[in-house]
Amino acid sequence: MLALQGGVREHLQLLESLDALAIEVRAKTDLDSIDALVIPGGESTTISKLIDNFDLKSSIQSLIDSGLPLLGTCAGLILLSKQVDNQPGFFKALSCSVARNAYGSQLASGEALVSYADNDEERAAFIRAPRITDLSQTEPIAWFGEEVVAIQQGNIIGASYHPELTSSTALHRKLIALAKAD
Ligand code: GLN
Repeated sequence: MLALQGGVREHLQLLESLDALAIEVRAKTDLDSIDALVIPGGESTTISKLIDNFDLKSSIQSLIDSGLPLLGTCAGLILLSKQVDNQPGFFKALSCSVARNAYGSQLASGEALVSYADNDEERAAFIRAPRITDLSQTEPIAWFGEEVVAIQQGNIIGASYHPELTSSTALHRKLIALAKAD
């Protein structure tokens, strides 16, 4: 669990409720023993600056390149996307494009029912959520109505919402399954 800024505690609690051994990542050495990484929601510009300040970017990028399972939620999705507001993204790990703070009043901030391909439905929180504007080579895995709100590409999952605030476990279960399959 990348623990530099944002919604860290609820993600840790959710992972522990699924019997995953979760640690807080703040230093390069914390990355040595992990089987998967969660990048939380928060403020993407702040998190990216802290990743640079803590000198974590190249180590996380190498783990991404080597196929480490990752889950990025909200600001985490923004950091993993190839294009953000028509500019190059930070890690460029998901080939999608996103627009920050792109929902009007409909999904500006609040809870909504998210549905998954296996007919699972869970409530999730949208807080100044990014909008996935171009899926590119990513696969849609969750929807709010017609709108794709979570995607996957290989071992990397990105969601525009906060699953941890409503104890929605679908994405964390997928992440743990990816880590176990590796
Ligand atoms: N709008 C935020 C950003 O651009 C993301 C919001 C969130 O993570 N809840 O970083």
